[in-house]
Amino acid sequence: MPEGHSIHRLARQFTDVFGGRRVAVTSPQGRFADGAARLDGRTLLRGSAHGKQLFVEFDGGLHLRVHLGLYGAFSFGGDEQFAGASSIGAPRRIGEREDLPAEPAVYRGPPEPVGQVRVRLVTEHGWADLRGASVCEVLTPAEVDAVRARLGPDPLRTADEGRAAAFHRRLRTRTGIGVALMDQSRVAGVGNIYRAESLFRCRIDPLRPSAELDSGQLDRLWDDLCELMAAGVREGRIVTTDPADRPDPQLPVWPEQAYYVYQRAGRECRRCGSVVQVAEVAGRKLYWCPGCQGD
Ligand SMILES: [Zn+2]
Repeated sequence: MPEGHSIHRLARQFTDVFGGRRVAVTSPQGRFADGAARLDGRTLLRGSAHGKQLFVEFDGGLHLRVHLGLYGAFSFGGDEQFAGASSIGAPRRIGEREDLPAEPAVYRGPPEPVGQVRVRLVTEHGWADLRGASVCEVLTPAEVDAVRARLGPDPLRTADEGRAAAFHRRLRTRTGIGVALMDQSRVAGVGNIYRAESLFRCRIDPLRPSAELDSGQLDRLWDDLCELMAAGVREGRIVTTDPADRPDPQLPVWPEQAYYVYQRAGRECRRCGSVVQVAEVAGRKLYWCPGCQGD
């Protein structure tokens, strides 16, 4: 599943390629026909994200909410005025993946819909197709607020007030910190990679009850998530290793040297040489180093 930085990039892409333009909205598959009719012909104002939720605002106070879930993806295409990554979202097998645009071909409008296109947005310069999302619906501003109220603070929403304090408050739980970080009502946008890597970088045992962390540890964890996820938005991929911890100049940084523990079970820790461990926790594989993250 894409982590929060991918959804923020997706939001930015919507603002870049559709912002201020009138958009034809359809549902080639038919499942979103009523929602598409409400948005069709409106001007798209901007995209935004909170955690893994994408909100696309149209004039008239209507918002398209999308959650990509495990299988959702947007694909994009258009002419040279329609700039951005050509696809953001699934499939993701290792880390993050984005297809970059191929050589620009002559643009003749959107292609015939292929597969189950839930919603299609079209302007004179380009198009976007959504397939496979777990949520796709039209919301009013009050409904957007209600969705956001259920979410924890997002390390990438720097304009939201009181985020660090909310992070401290919402992590007061006996649940293991490794589980709590994946709970979107406690902190929004963190997925399996950021969870594992941030806990490693902050030397925190993922199985420790969240409420046992002192406030200095929570501050460091919050700051680290903010820093790592902002880098993810900039780069379009997740890299958590410091340069000193990726000594092999022959290997590319990503993906071979991008992570400390994620998908490195059974291999030596880059810092202490202990064997990286993996366990199934809350349905997802949790990776950690018992040497760096013991008590
Ligand atoms: Zn270690």
